[in-house]
This record gives sequence, structure tokens and C-alpha cells, in this order.
Amino acid sequence: MMTSIVNTSFTLIPNQKYRRSNRRSSHSYIIGSDSQNLSTLGDFKALPLELFQIILEYLSVKDISKLSMVSKTINHRLINYISTSSGSRRLLQQDFHNQELSGRRQGSYLLEHYRSLGLLFKRCTLLLPTKERLKYIHKILSEVSCFKFSGCGVPMQCLGLPCYGMFLQTLTAGWDELECHRVYNFLCELTNLPRKVQTVVCSKPGSARKLELRIRLFCRNVLLDHWIQRSDSAFWLTRILKPWPMVNQARLLYIIFGPISSQDGQVVWQKMTEGPTDETSLKGLADAIKLLYDTDTKEWTADDVISLVDELSVVPREWLLENNARLLILSGNNICFTFMASKAVNGRANELARMIVFLALVCEKDLYCMDWAVKMMQKVCKVFSTQMERNNFLQNVENAFARVIMDMLQSVMSGDRDEEDSSFLNLFHLVNAQANFHKEVLYITMNNTST
Ligand SMILES: [Zn+2]
Repeated sequence: MMTSIVNTSFTLIPNQKYRRSNRRSSHSYIIGSDSQNLSTLGDFKALPLELFQIILEYLSVKDISKLSMVSKTINHRLINYISTSSGSRRLLQQDFHNQELSGRRQGSYLLEHYRSLGLLFKRCTLLLPTKERLKYIHKILSEVSCFKFSGCGVPMQCLGLPCYGMFLQTLTAGWDELECHRVYNFLCELTNLPRKVQTVVCSKPGSARKLELRIRLFCRNVLLDHWIQRSDSAFWLTRILKPWPMVNQARLLYIIFGPISSQDGQVVWQKMTEGPTDETSLKGLADAIKLLYDTDTKEWTADDVISLVDELSVVPREWLLENNARLLILSGNNICFTFMASKAVNGRANELARMIVFLALVCEKDLYCMDWAVKMMQKVCKVFSTQMERNNFLQNVENAFARVIMDMLQSVMSGDRDEEDSSFLNLFHLVNAQANFHKEVLYITMNNTST
């Protein structure tokens, strides 16, 4: 019986020496028989393996992971224990669909459990090269179907992927970049993620809804959401996005961070084109853009991120300018200004002027201070190099206010009102926005002339 246990788990651990120069242990890892290493077992020496495993049942996963660092022989026995049926039954808890019954506590309990389990595997496999480590761990985890890309029938009610993500995060925390690349490649091979991404970015938005949802859940729950350091999140998001051309990056960003339906969790493609949307629908996208812009990665220049924002505003078709403005405001001062300055440099004064109008409208509707919009206009104004260009831009802003108000008025007059009178309400907000905007302009001018 003992030999059968030993056999199943030994196959994956090559029994040869490894040089692990960058690990804290420089000892070679030789797997010998227990009898050779009995000396490192300490008092456990006296116990038969069965009893040792019974004792493990009484230890918490955290304690077992501490125990694994005692010696190679113990570590080794623990690896065996993980592969036994009682060990895997206990360690691979799969109660992922019971959150409704037992509430949030069950969810956080499971996440905590998989965090500890990640630590246990990290310590148990410390001496293996990354590739072997991942293979071994995959072999153990492969019996959990909710950890697989499309393995769960009720993905919206399932805690499987978040637990898997928590596990991977603990396992790989502190690994150097090269090793993390290996992890990503390993996961890609395992799940066929790039192929699936290709399918959705190459087909019409919404034509592969289920696949879009799976991609979103896998990327968010497994690869992105558990990191504490923003640089880690940026690293993983970069892995997901960078292989694709900008157009596809924008589409992918929308799939992963865009607004979803509260009923079925699927991506709502028409959200940005149909009507004004709210901050919660845009927050995910804005945060992702900030993440790429703020974290100092060599892989994203400011220009890259600005182009991505530009590209995003036509996914799946051209957004309403109000939604565009709202995204810029949520993305923060730097991104907003850089975006607008790039338009100014390219001489697109007219487009820019309309954007100013909608920034003012969003400030009015979402209750931001209007002087922010005025200051933004001032800063953008300075980007134009000549007095003539600046005046032209300011003239454009005034024309745009008039134009947009007339457009909205027309839509109110044409009578296609919906029940909430939203077009009238929008007009009301815009007229107030204009008044507030100009009040701030007057304050600045009058206060300047009086001193
Ligand atoms: Zn599930």
C-alpha cells in the first residue's frame, strides 16, 4: 500500500539534481527513499506513514505548509499526502456553488482556504524548476472542473475561478518576470486563451456572447483581480492585451472591463452608443486605462494608452460624446489632458471644442466642480501655439455650445420623447452647464482685471 502511494506522486518529480541558483536553497534536491533520509524526519521517524497522514488531518493547511519547510523528507511526505485520495478530498474543496445558502462567509472561507493551499504548494514545490512545478500543480488541480476555462455550468454563481486565481496569486507572488511569463504561457497553452480571444475579437461584438463572458470571467477572476500591487495587475493585463493590434486591444478591454448586464453578466455592447450612461458602467474601463497609464511599464507609452482610449471610443461603434467625456473624467486629469492635447496638436479644434462642451455637461450632471472643466479648457488652450489658433479654438467652443443645445432642442421638439423625458432633462442640464461654465470664466476674467 505504501508503495502505491509513493508511485503515484513520484512520477512527476524527476529524480535528478537541479541547480537552483536564484532560490534561497542552493542544495541539490535528491529524492531518495525514506530510509536514506530518516534522520531528517526527527521524532516523526518513529511513526508509520499511515499515522503521519492521520496526524496531518488534524493540522490546518497553514500549519501543513509550515511543516513542509522542516526538511526534504517531510516535504516529500507532504507531496505524497496531497496526492492521496483523503488528502486531495480535504485540500481541494469544491463547494463553489453554495454561496447563496451560507452567505458571504462561505465565499471568504473558500478564498482563504485556497490562499493557504497556494502557500502550501509554493513551499512544497520550492525546489522544482518552474515548468515542473506548474505541471505538477496542474496535475493535482486538474480534477477540479470549476477551475477550467469552460468547466463550470453556472459560471456566474461559481467561486471556482476566484479561488483558482487566489491560489495562483499566492503561488506566484514574488516570482521574477521571466517566471511569470512562463506561468502565463502555461495557462495559455492549458486554456487555449489566445485562440479564444482571437475568435471573439474577430467576430461581430455580441455574436459569441458566452465566449465573451468566459473570457471576461477567466481574465478577471484568475489573472487580474487578486493582486495587491498595481504593478502586478499591470503586468498581467499587459500579457493579455499586448499580443494584439490596438483595435483588438480596445475590443478586449471592453469585454474584460466594460459594462455588463446585471441579469446574466454578459457584456452590454450598445451601452455607450444608445444613451448617456452612468459612472458605474465606465469605472472598470477607466480603472484599467489608469492602470496602464500610471504604472511605469516600458511596454506602454503615454501615446499607446491615448491611442487605446481613442480606439475604445468606437467600440463597437462611435460612442456618444457624453460617455466619452465621462470616461475621460473618470480616467483622471493626466489622461484627460493628454488625450485632449493630442487632439490640439493635430489641429482638431472642432472636435476638441465639442469635447469641452460635453465635459461641462458631465460636470453638471455628475456634480463635479465646473471650474475643473474651465481649467481644463485653459490648459488645452495653451497647447495651441499661436494667438489665432487659440482664438479659433475658443470660438469653436462657443459655437459647439450653441450647436449642441440646438441639436438637443430639436430632439425635444421632434417629440420622440421617452417616458422619462430624458432628452428634455439632458437639455436642461446642458443649459445649466453652459451657465455654470461661463460663470467660472467670468470669475476668472473679472478677478484678474480687478487686481
Ligand atoms: Zn462551478
